[in-house]
Amino acid sequence: MAKETKEKKEKLSDKLFYKLKNCWEGIDKKTEKDVEELASSYKQFLNMAKTERECVDVISALLEKNGFVNIDTLKQKTLKPGMKIYQNIRGKSILAAIVGKKSAIEGCNILGAHIDSPRLDLKQNPLYEDSDLALFDTHYYGGIKKYQWTTIPLSMHGVFVNKDGKKTAIRIGDDPDDPVFTITDLLIHLAKEQMEKKASLVVEGEDLDVLVGSRPYPDSSANGSEKEKVKLAILDLLNKKYGITEKDFASAEIEFVPAFKASDVGLDRSMIGSYGHDDRCCAWPALLALITHGNEKTAPAKSLVCYLSDKEEIGSAGNTGARALHFENFLNLLCGGDFADLRKCFLNSSMLSADVDAAFDPAYASVFDKKNGSFLGKGISLSKYTGSGGKYGASDANAEFCAKVQAIFDRNNLQWQFGELGKVDKGGGGTIALYAAHLGMDVLDCGVPVLSMHSPFEVISKIDLYTTYKAYIAFLREA
Ligand code: MN
Ligand code: MN
Repeated sequence: MAKETKEKKEKLSDKLFYKLKNCWEGIDKKTEKDVEELASSYKQFLNMAKTERECVDVISALLEKNGFVNIDTLKQKTLKPGMKIYQNIRGKSILAAIVGKKSAIEGCNILGAHIDSPRLDLKQNPLYEDSDLALFDTHYYGGIKKYQWTTIPLSMHGVFVNKDGKKTAIRIGDDPDDPVFTITDLLIHLAKEQMEKKASLVVEGEDLDVLVGSRPYPDSSANGSEKEKVKLAILDLLNKKYGITEKDFASAEIEFVPAFKASDVGLDRSMIGSYGHDDRCCAWPALLALITHGNEKTAPAKSLVCYLSDKEEIGSAGNTGARALHFENFLNLLCGGDFADLRKCFLNSSMLSADVDAAFDPAYASVFDKKNGSFLGKGISLSKYTGSGGKYGASDANAEFCAKVQAIFDRNNLQWQFGELGKVDKGGGGTIALYAAHLGMDVLDCGVPVLSMHSPFEVISKIDLYTTYKAYIAFLREA
């Protein structure tokens, strides 16, 4: 009798509780292989594409390889079901689509992620010399803990554009033979006062200056004055290699990012550590999910769209950010160009705002609500709302749409978890979801949980990356 009651109770709890398992448990050999394959392609992507511009270059090439046509080279005006198109937005964001059998007016299924990450940008007049050291002055981009960016190897990425519009791409510090750069920090022996400061002031924004040289120009007569010979030598090197002068920094876009490569983390290799998981760990599976559908024999029912935007980390403004009209214009193209049809398309469309979530960190348990947070290894995280201080600035997805997305994942045996970003009033954040919501479409934030988010070396779980990839495929097919 007692045994029977216990069994009955277990069944009832199975039925009523939402129990999250660790997704590694019970994994079969075939899936294990697929997880590793995805992780390996993702690590390659991370190492090749450390900036938004490099992402667009790598992604365009991959789209082309998979039969997607740049709309600028498109011959015919009308789009036919099964056609695969993409648009490169000023080399810094990208939109891709597969035309569905149904009209886009009936709604598209959309995945939207971002490809910019926190980093250090060069100022317009960055190069200076002090005490025989040459340094670059920076202005950080996005939300960072400034002290995390000192004493690590950094690499230099970006473009110079000359007066004739000729673009020169720079990438120094990622090849094994390359030099790297770094930002110094005060030795502990003299840091008594510094160590008393609060963390936001330990290293201040103006102190994030990158060390770039220490060797004076050999011939002092070439300098005129005896001053700034180290700076002169650096400019001479840059001029010889890239043809640039000091003035050219004013228009350049140069970003400093961590120089280290993406690596497996842990003795069990279950995780990936890298710069820029936010938001490449959602952008990559979103892109691959679209490409996977593009390789099907028949056209999808609805039109499928993948939007990889720039400028999310600084509020999505700017002409390559999600607040610009590119997203609307691209959907308008799918609708056939009628403004009224586009409005209907917005209302009927479903979108996943594919962005990372903060994973529960046992070292900082006090800021997380364990019941509502996401965990490494427990699948894709769904954030009904983001924002801060009373959901301020959140798009707060509808119950109806949340239920629809959850049902899709459940049907496909893909575990999803809850994604509230920390305890109430402990902080917060935003994504591109609200700009899609502004258009009137259904949109829900969901993606991979990340440890040490916005640090130079963020950590994710390979199994979450895989679950997210499968979830994005299912969403594109079934939403
Ligand atoms: Mn993000
Ligand atoms: Mn971010």
